[in-house]
Amino acid sequence: MSLLFAKAFEQYDTFRENRLTKRRFSAELWQELMAEWSTNFAVRTIGKTQEGRPIQEISWGEGRIEIIAWSQMHGDEATATLALADIFRLLSSSGELAQEIKQKLHQKITLRIIPRLNADGAERWQRETALGIDMNRDATKQNSIEARILSAWADEIKPAFAFNLHDQNRLYSVGNSPEQTHIAFLATTGDEDGTWTPSRLRAGQICQRMLHQIQPIIPGKIAKWTDEYESRAFGDTFSSRGYGLVLLESGGAGWDLEKHSLRKLNACLLLDAFCAIADGSYSEESIEEYEALPTNERAIVDIKIKDAPLSSTVRADVLFNLVETPMTDGRIHYSWLVENIGDMSPFYGLTEIDGKNLHLSPDSSITLGENYTELILLKDGKPGFKLSDYTHKIQS
Ligand SMILES: [Zn+2]
Repeated sequence: MSLLFAKAFEQYDTFRENRLTKRRFSAELWQELMAEWSTNFAVRTIGKTQEGRPIQEISWGEGRIEIIAWSQMHGDEATATLALADIFRLLSSSGELAQEIKQKLHQKITLRIIPRLNADGAERWQRETALGIDMNRDATKQNSIEARILSAWADEIKPAFAFNLHDQNRLYSVGNSPEQTHIAFLATTGDEDGTWTPSRLRAGQICQRMLHQIQPIIPGKIAKWTDEYESRAFGDTFSSRGYGLVLLESGGAGWDLEKHSLRKLNACLLLDAFCAIADGSYSEESIEEYEALPTNERAIVDIKIKDAPLSSTVRADVLFNLVETPMTDGRIHYSWLVENIGDMSPFYGLTEIDGKNLHLSPDSSITLGENYTELILLKDGKPGFKLSDYTHKIQS
């Protein structure tokens, strides 16, 4: 772990942007923060979304090395956006840590960042754009206005490094293990053969650098994506253009559904990576440990009840996964989907329940594909399992 990462991690609470407390937040609040940042950063509107929301670039620094980053290409993936807000707050302040970081960065790098790229999707809390297009499959055809803006923006800058910031499904596992992937990396390839071009190598070195920072904090909970080339994806396309493409994905973090812990890691990881780029120290990294990371797999579910009662005589394993539903009032509602029923021995539950002494009550049933907010199973005639107990474990 670098000294700088350790410091940022320790002092994180001093620069966290506390007005942002949830992944889903209003455009009004975001604009209010942007207005504040614009006194310390150059803020430029580079285009508008399908529904006319501004797509804004925040830039800072006067260095020769160009670094770009964007978040919320997928509207409901905001963990990195919150981390970027923390970074903007730090760079706007004058404490000791802020001074140290600003001194390291300001004359070495130029940061250009588009947070909340897919602002229409962010407003609806959905992955796709207002027209239902997944931007990350639109890099080639560029049917969406947002994809055209992102592509032209990057080509105008031709950055040495490009940080592609996402949230991945919470239920990816580190290989086929019971460990939930908290953070995943990918030094995205730019061709079918997975060639380690100079720009991809730079990205790989950054991935390994980032891995070294968080390994002591979340050992065993870090994975990488596979190297498959997807020409329609932005990462792959930008990598093919020679921009050192680093994919950083925030996965799941147990009951911390708002991912406060991952936001903190994102903020510290990005700050450390920017400093390592500024002083060139990233180039001392190899890519071996990054390459040896297990890939993201799907071996985990939220709740697994082993030998759950399906009728008075039949039992089988039942898998429940959390479902997020965006509400019109701006909140996120949680319910539980029966994902699978049967012999579920290949899957690990983040929570595992032994159901063999549990029984259905007269008015309850377990139905595949159904969404539940409550399910009570009886043990010796009294509630022995309450699904809502687990909803209450969700930390907000
Ligand atoms: Zn995404």
